[in-house]
Amino acid sequence: MKERIEELRRLINQYNIEYHSLDKPTVSDAEYDKLMRELIGLEEEFPQYMDSNSPTQRVGGAILDEFTKVQHKRKMMSLGNVFNKEELFAWAKRITDEVGLVEFCAECKIDGLAMSIEYRNGQFVQAVTRGDGEVGEDVTLNVKTIKSIPMNIPYKEEVEIRGEVYMPKASFESLNELRRAKDEQEFANPRNAAAGSIRQLDSSVAASRKLNAFWYHVPDGETYDLSTHYESLMWIKDMGFVVNENTTLFTRIEDVWDFIERMTIERNNLPYEIDGIVIKVNDFSIQDRLGYTVKVPKWAIAYKFPAEEAVTLLEDIFITVGRTGKATPNAKLTPVRLAGTTVAAATLHNEDMILQKDVRIGDMVIIHKAGDIIPEVIGSVVEKRDGSQIPYIFPTTCPDCGMPLHRFTDEAAHYCVNSNCPARIVNSIAHFASRDAMNIDGLGEKKVEQFHKAGWLNKVDDIFKLESHRDDILALDKFGLKSYDNLIEAVENCKSNPLDKLLFGLGIRQVGAKASRILANHFKTMDALINAKVEELVTIDDIGDITADAIVTYFSEDATIRLIDNLKDSGVNMNQGSDTVIESCFTGKVIVLTGSLQRFSRSEAQEYLEKHGATVTGSVSKKTDLVIYGEAAGSKLEKANTLGIEIMSEDEFMKIIEGEVSND
Ligand code: NAD
Repeated sequence: MKERIEELRRLINQYNIEYHSLDKPTVSDAEYDKLMRELIGLEEEFPQYMDSNSPTQRVGGAILDEFTKVQHKRKMMSLGNVFNKEELFAWAKRITDEVGLVEFCAECKIDGLAMSIEYRNGQFVQAVTRGDGEVGEDVTLNVKTIKSIPMNIPYKEEVEIRGEVYMPKASFESLNELRRAKDEQEFANPRNAAAGSIRQLDSSVAASRKLNAFWYHVPDGETYDLSTHYESLMWIKDMGFVVNENTTLFTRIEDVWDFIERMTIERNNLPYEIDGIVIKVNDFSIQDRLGYTVKVPKWAIAYKFPAEEAVTLLEDIFITVGRTGKATPNAKLTPVRLAGTTVAAATLHNEDMILQKDVRIGDMVIIHKAGDIIPEVIGSVVEKRDGSQIPYIFPTTCPDCGMPLHRFTDEAAHYCVNSNCPARIVNSIAHFASRDAMNIDGLGEKKVEQFHKAGWLNKVDDIFKLESHRDDILALDKFGLKSYDNLIEAVENCKSNPLDKLLFGLGIRQVGAKASRILANHFKTMDALINAKVEELVTIDDIGDITADAIVTYFSEDATIRLIDNLKDSGVNMNQGSDTVIESCFTGKVIVLTGSLQRFSRSEAQEYLEKHGATVTGSVSKKTDLVIYGEAAGSKLEKANTLGIEIMSEDEFMKIIEGEVSND
């Protein structure tokens, strides 16, 4: 066991240096946390091997030689971690068992780097990183470039304020974009980017990185006549420091958990990264009674969100060809758990991305998943290479049809330009039948592929001739009469869909679901759209030059006209209908939906509103007329309140819908 303990200490020490000092982690945070928990467990079980130099007893960072070293007046500690509800409740129970009922302050755990700043005579004098907790680095000049930090404050005695310097998501995106353009290595995440920026010797570089900061701690708060943590936050807020707006007080740990669940959803809408929620005992006198371990305060804990990054082996790279012919490279991965699901494949986007990130077959790769987005490979762990890794050469031919792949000028993607490519055919038919397009139940990708291989589905309009293959379909393994009847009924029903569903189903380049609705509502009939010129198309709101060109090109092709004629012959509706807009209190309004709606999906609510003549947009601005909010609504709702925009709860929205139904 001693060997394992020593092995864990060696690994964790190495990862600490890579993460805290070099800003170049080689393992995911989840992997690090797992090793740390294993070490804590073993040290508890075998106390005879305890060592005061163990990483479980020390704050992770170290100090680089480039900056002046500064001894902290008061130690800068780390935080203990919990990873689930049970662990959080157990922590709260330990506290209430010791000191009775307490008030908790829950706040976002900002994913940046801890910073201590000092003021004397009301003037900003120094900024120091956490370092190893005892000694940090003087980064005053760089921190001064953060515009939201007050340089003068009304309080004239000496005071230290602590918080987190971070890089907003938008700054991170544009920084990496710039680095890609310059062929420089991208930062793995906003935290590393923020830490790397603060450690710049040239402060003009730090200034260009657009960092920001939240402030969350006043050490020795009692000395300023404050008695609670929350009071201290309000005190510094009044002095001009930015305090995170989601900070909330609770008396019950169950309510803290509800807050965590809300923030787990809302975090994707925040303009900065958070990696958890910090829960602190509010009252200073109770904090003092609870005290500290060598490394962390006992009166605070960090709940960490489930991992959204993982490291795994890239076994191979394979190409998938979509309905437009776009050939996307994908990573075949050794399956790994990530944000609650098992991931076995991730996108590599295109050839340039593979080259820029220098991703090779056989590499250990870091994969990332945010919200509903498909997992992506964000880079390789170069340190783990053993020489057996093979650089990837992008294929010159389509893996499905063998025809050459083509890369257009100014585009990063390769395309299979063979319109008879089986992968393109299958994907375009499956798209036509998909839920948001013609919504033909029972005709998913697998079925389309099977029918295509059998020779029954080669073009979209073949869907309407499936009945002529009745006996063959029924002869297929596991295809009963009921499934067949349901499929044919779904095909029949889809014929009466409005024009916008058909347009979206056709998969015209640049024309998504929203543009399809706009076009259908504007032209009302397929023929009017077919005859539209670029000049007319560009006058429509939201239709730009590129989309207009794509539409005109699409309808100028003989194959398109033949397809439309065949669809017409099959009885497919080609009109949007004149009664599309139902006058209501939503007509003409710009509306934003936020939070999680309980009674309908987002797309159902959007469809309802659009049918009633509203425009539904994604972000709140001065142009927004109304914000409809569901549960756990966050920053969008707040912004609406700040801008004085009308808001409506899901219940009120429901009442209007019900009122309309009962008035019918
Ligand atoms: P931590 O990040 O788990 O928590 C402590 C830190 O949270 C504080 O120092 C402070 O900077 C920050 N914080 C953010 N918001 C806060 C708030 N509202 N109130 C108080 N503090 C707040 O601990 P750590 O010691 O900084 O780092 C350890 C963690 O870093 C590990 O759990 C792991 O996830 C990661 N790590 C990863 C690697 C790697 O190789 N991938 C290596 C070392 C550490």
